[in-house]
Amino acid sequence: MDRAVAAARSAFEDGRWSRIAPAARKRVLHRLADLIEKHALELAVLGVRDNGTELNMALKAEPGSAAGTFRYYAEAIDKIYGEIAPTAPGTLGLVHKEPVGVVGAIVPWNFPLMIGAWKLAPALAAGNSVVLKPAETASLSLLKLAELAAEAGVPEGVLNVVTGSGAVAGEALAMSMDVDVLVFTGSGPVGRRLLEYSARSNLKRVYLELGGKSPNIVFADAPDLEEAAMVSAGGIFRNSGQVCVAGSRLLVEESIHDTFVERVAHHARQLKVGDPLDLTTNVGAVNSLRQLEGNLGFIDSARSEGNTIALGGNRILEETGGYYMEPTIVTDVGPQDRIARNEVFGPVLSVQTFETDAEALALANGTDYGLAAGVWTSNLSRAHNMVAGIRSGVVHVNTYGGADATVPLGGMKQSGNGHDKSLHAMDKYLDLKTAWIKL
Ligand code: NAD
Repeated sequence: MDRAVAAARSAFEDGRWSRIAPAARKRVLHRLADLIEKHALELAVLGVRDNGTELNMALKAEPGSAAGTFRYYAEAIDKIYGEIAPTAPGTLGLVHKEPVGVVGAIVPWNFPLMIGAWKLAPALAAGNSVVLKPAETASLSLLKLAELAAEAGVPEGVLNVVTGSGAVAGEALAMSMDVDVLVFTGSGPVGRRLLEYSARSNLKRVYLELGGKSPNIVFADAPDLEEAAMVSAGGIFRNSGQVCVAGSRLLVEESIHDTFVERVAHHARQLKVGDPLDLTTNVGAVNSLRQLEGNLGFIDSARSEGNTIALGGNRILEETGGYYMEPTIVTDVGPQDRIARNEVFGPVLSVQTFETDAEALALANGTDYGLAAGVWTSNLSRAHNMVAGIRSGVVHVNTYGGADATVPLGGMKQSGNGHDKSLHAMDKYLDLKTAWIKL
């Protein structure tokens, strides 16, 4: 890790990437996007063999989205200007935007290529050097990406991918005295440590994208309850629920509770769980035994807290040797129950009911998280009032998921302090420098 940081530093300082024309970096990043598209199947399969995501989702969410992200920031970088400040006559204040230097990136296993690209593309477009550490269980697609970046013309030392455990390689990167900015996607406890590492080392800026317990609120006046049920099932069960923005808390208006939960269960039963490499599979494998055991632990605690397991709740297909879990719906959940307050990161939907808008809002905001939310209603005022009232980085209305590269993704409260995607993400990778000139 120390050698990678040193390589990144010397590449940054000699300007082989940081001081070439933005339009030249743009051409390289477009070539990288072309290569990602050319190798899409290989990249997706490498990722799936690591993390168990169903291939039909991985193809779209991993190489598909990564190529789009590289193109988005390739196009952005020669359209970002500095500023001339409105100073008094006789002075000139120029605000330059410069790359920050060496960026450290630590990413999780659920969508390594997509999330890796959310960090790498804006960081590289801005002219930084990067050292990226993938998760222990999902590094193959990112190693391949590094190979493709070299082929596209990213100079040596500018992009470094170093595998290893969080405790050794991750900590070494986060404690480095020569990393200027650390960007992270992963769990809250690790995010807290990174802030400590920064304080104990060089005060590097730390941007965190953490977990969620996202409410998906269904009002009786939703435009199409059938569609709401189908999308809500996909919004929690795809990739076995291992999605940071998963709509893991269904908040449903009391009057439609029974019929709506039955509709969601109906769609959940249609999802085919199994071999992630089979293109007809809708839900692949849970990432690891540890993750599976954690999911099942939540089911045990739900039972002991008096919740009802309305669907699923079990490990399945054990004879294959894989870690598969049934789509699971837990009802009769109270706001203080473990399943209502903690991120499972598995295919487990907890259901609560409400009668008024105020009650829905209080439940929605009733956890420490604030990453994503959904609202289903035909009432325009209600939709806007919920968007205004919910404390989360994204609120979907009459849909769930699917937000593209043009809009930011980031958390409020304990879901994080930074944003990936959109032009706003560039701010993390660009420093401001003032030139104050007497004329
Ligand atoms: P994790 O926090 O366990 O690991 C994430 C990364 O941190 C891995 O690369 C790991 O090796 C590294 N790490 C672990 N300990 C470390 C240490 N002491 N020092 C430095 N690095 C260390 O998370 P995970 O299990 O890989 O991912 C799941 C979590 O990620 C969930 O909480 C999920 O919600 C979150 N997530 C958030 C987003 C988002 O955009 N907000 C997206 C995807 C996943």
